[in-house]
Amino acid sequence: MAYQTIYPYTGELLQKYDDATEADLEAALSTANHLYQTRRKQPVSERAQILHQIAKALTNHEDELAKAMTYDMGKLLTESKGEVELCASIVEYYAQHGEEFMQPVPLDSQSGKAYYLKQATGVIVAVEPWNFPLYQVIRVFAPNFIVGNPIILKHASICPTSAQKLADVVLEAGAPKGALTNLFINYDLVAKAIHDPRVTGVCLTGSERGGASVAKEAGDALKKSTLELGGNDAFIVLSDADDAQLKKIAPNARLYNAGQVCTSSKRFIVMADKYDNFVAMLKEAFAKAKIGDPMDPETVIAPLSSQSAQEKLQKQVDTAIEHGAKLVYGNESINSTGFFFQPTILTDINKDNPIYNQEMFGPVATVYKVNSEQEAIDLANDSSYGLGNTIFSSNVEHAKAVAAKIETGMSFINSGWASLPELPFGGVKNSGYGRELSSLGLNAFVNEHLVFEP
Ligand code: NAP
Repeated sequence: MAYQTIYPYTGELLQKYDDATEADLEAALSTANHLYQTRRKQPVSERAQILHQIAKALTNHEDELAKAMTYDMGKLLTESKGEVELCASIVEYYAQHGEEFMQPVPLDSQSGKAYYLKQATGVIVAVEPWNFPLYQVIRVFAPNFIVGNPIILKHASICPTSAQKLADVVLEAGAPKGALTNLFINYDLVAKAIHDPRVTGVCLTGSERGGASVAKEAGDALKKSTLELGGNDAFIVLSDADDAQLKKIAPNARLYNAGQVCTSSKRFIVMADKYDNFVAMLKEAFAKAKIGDPMDPETVIAPLSSQSAQEKLQKQVDTAIEHGAKLVYGNESINSTGFFFQPTILTDINKDNPIYNQEMFGPVATVYKVNSEQEAIDLANDSSYGLGNTIFSSNVEHAKAVAAKIETGMSFINSGWASLPELPFGGVKNSGYGRELSSLGLNAFVNEHLVFEP
């Protein structure tokens, strides 16, 4: 595993980094642990003040950070800029609410006075993916900074430049050394870090395979873990859904970030009376989406993050078609450099098609026709994943009742998927466990320390 920036639009190797050594890991752990020990007594307000500065610094460095992400993993520069802005808003959210979230929580007891404190636990290892190189890190870093837990970051090997630039900006903005340490470590050193007594928890966002390996190490070491894994989110269109709203939202719910989003709408489940029009609408929108240079503001579809991502997706689409899926649009090669994948629509996917229960991480929509609402709910739930889903209906109360029947961690009504600082993010089933963002995200690695006086 080499940490290197290969620009997905040209395939050019732009930068290569040396792997961190065991000595680098030891130095990082020692600095982070020293910070944890010394900051435990620091008032939360002082940490909140630094977060305000970090939020400003992110905004001030928007261009540089955004370009680093686009060069690392190919996303549209406009989307990279949006990501920096989202990160600044997450940091600002914890700056504003951190003190309130860290207050002792009173408990009702018939037998005496009771409350629990929220206390830092120690160094946290964060293993993060490339699809949102800054956002994935910030949603762990900002709440843990308030708590007082330093972060050792192992980022994806294909986005080292954004990882390092983010750590540099955080440090320059006033975070103490050790609060966020980016290390180009291999899997063995990640395991070593998890077993180190100074480390008290690990979080991973990524694949089921990566999540299972890291959680296994955490289990062996008796450390807490949180996992944010893949999804195969349903986009349910009920008979009374508004067509104009669907047209505005559905294509982007699949195509944003070239479809490389855990909460992308991947399975469109459409009532029979809406089906033909919906497929025609999606086809028209996919055909119009301009493919090309991620730095060009007119581009809609950027390349995928790597050659291996492109090859994996191609294999999945080929397999789906071999097993009876109907190709409605796309799946043609793009006459350009870069790891592009044409927006593609597949229908007629049977339960025995291998793709039925696979996440496709790219701009490929699968569309299912259903004859009843119950069939839509059953199909949405017939997945090993349980991250998010969206439901479209003119009757909002009815849509909420349907949402309650879907086995996911998040439901969005008449809207595409969304991530906001104040909304908890996470899933159930093979999509992982634990929540990030909001007050729940701050609690992930705190010691809820009971104090009881009979
Ligand atoms: P991945 O292969 O699991 O990689 C994610 C991170 O884990 C990378 O830093 C990777 O390092 C590291 N990693 C993998 N195996 C490891 C191991 N055994 N020990 C230590 N570190 C390990 O995931 P991906 O395929 O690149 O990312 C896409 C997946 O992430 C999709 O399934 C997507 O749905 C999911 N995702 C989920 C969320 C969410 O919030 N639920 C958000 C975004 C993405 P290397 O890069 O060095 O291999």
